[in-house]
Order: sequence, then C-alpha cells, then structure tokens
Amino acid sequence: MIDSADKNQKQQTIKKDICFSGVGLHTGKFAKVIIKPGNDNTGIVFIRSDIKHNNQINALWSNVSSTILSTTISNEHNISVSTIEHLMSAFSGMHIDNAMVLIDSSEVPIMDGSSEPFVKLIEHSGIKVQNSKRKVIEIKKEIEVFNDDSFVKISPNKEFSIDFEIEFESHLINKQACQLQLVNGNYKSDISSARTFGFERDVNQLRSKGFALGGSLENAVVVGENNILNKEGLRYKDEFVRHKILDSIGDLYLAGYPVRGYFSGRKSGHFLNNELLKKLLSDESNYQIV
Ligand SMILES: [Zn+2]
Repeated sequence: MIDSADKNQKQQTIKKDICFSGVGLHTGKFAKVIIKPGNDNTGIVFIRSDIKHNNQINALWSNVSSTILSTTISNEHNISVSTIEHLMSAFSGMHIDNAMVLIDSSEVPIMDGSSEPFVKLIEHSGIKVQNSKRKVIEIKKEIEVFNDDSFVKISPNKEFSIDFEIEFESHLINKQACQLQLVNGNYKSDISSARTFGFERDVNQLRSKGFALGGSLENAVVVGENNILNKEGLRYKDEFVRHKILDSIGDLYLAGYPVRGYFSGRKSGHFLNNELLKKLLSDESNYQIV
C-alpha cells in the first residue's frame, strides 16, 4: 500500500526493538514476539525463535500455505506462522518496508483483534529512514479473481485506494460498503482500530474444529442473534467492513512491496486475496516494480 502522505521514497524500518506477547486467536497458544529492525531490501521476515534450524519464513504470497480463517505462511521445511495478517496490515499502513519478526510459537498474538496495538508499538519505537529507495508494485492491467458472488480485483491507479462490500445474514450487519483512499496517514484513524468479528451461532462449531480457541470478547466483536455481545459496542458504525479492509491490506502486503493500484473486494477474504496475488504476480505484463 502506498499513500500520498508517503512522500518519502526511501525504505523504512523500526528504530528500536518492539516486544509484545499474548494468545493466538485460533490456537489459543501464548506467544512472545520481538520485532527487530530489518536491513535494506530484506522485506518482512518471520523467524520461529523456538526452532533452531530452517526457522525463517519470508512474508511473501508464494509462502502462503493456508487461508482458512486466517493467513498462514510456511517455508519449505513446513515451519509456519499463522494469523499474520493484522501485523502485516500494520507494517503496510505504517510504511515499514523491512523488519524481522521473532516469534516463539506458531501464531501471532491476536491482541485486541485489530492492528491498533501494533500501530502504537511501531509509533513508540519510531521509524528509521534507510538508504535504499523504496520499490513499489505498479498495476498495469486489471486483474480479477472470483468465486460465486465473491470477488477481488485490482486495477491501475496512481495511489492505493480500496473499496469493499460485505453481506451477512444478520440484521446487525446486513450490507456494508466502504470506499477509502489512503491519504495523509489515515490508515491509523480509519482502519487500524477495526476488530475481527465472529457470530455467536458459529462459536461451538469453530471450537470443535480447533479454531477460535483463544477467541473472547477481549479480542473479537461477537455478533449475537439480536445484539453485539461486547459491552463497549462497536468502534466504528461499519467496523465489520473496515476490518475486512484491514485484512486485505495485510494480505496484499504479501506481494513483497507496497502496491499502487485500486483494490475492490466483495464478500471476499484471505483465500481470494492470495489467489489475486498469484494471478497478478505470475505474469510480468500485469505489473511493474518501480
Ligand atoms: Zn482479520
């Protein structure tokens, strides 16, 4: 993602190490994370600090191994890290090009369900401007992937813009649409606080399949039959669609570079986001790295 506030054409990393810990949304496992500054042109790299050898996984679309309920990346030795999308979204939104993420378990802590805690940690660490020029993926052709009535597409555009539409069988959500141009650093105010969400009616089934084991009202919006179960209510009136945008920004950053283009999504998620990157990046006539 590239926005017009991002006048600095140099690569960026964090200034000081960032440490945090917490439970994973799906595994319920506790993980400690240390993010270290990354060298120029190294991108975002995850390192499983609990594993001695072959423990590095580059945050790239080609390493995505599962998109069921979250995005998981794995290396060729089957070492993986899951639920990376909210942290990736924060890196993208805060224009961090290079960072090393050391994690001692298999799932990134869910924190409060949004990317706001990561944004605050990055702000607290500070941003360091590096020597190398930033590279950006410029879209040359419209690329679309779809599945029934869901789709995602990306088209040529001067800046990164996004629109998204969701539709759920719940009168508390129904249809929500949101269109945003990311300008003047509005990722933080308009997107980063939107939390992940789920339906009360699905909780038992999810848990019986080994998902959402760390989920709670502390880290997800839970939609009941007649009301939102979280006492504090919603953070944005259309928090649900904003969270889908947050996820898409994180998934798109697995392109390896910020993307300059217009992204549209409808009823889509991690799977189609990855299919879009596969289709886009498999043919060099679709894009240009500038
Ligand atoms: Zn999410």
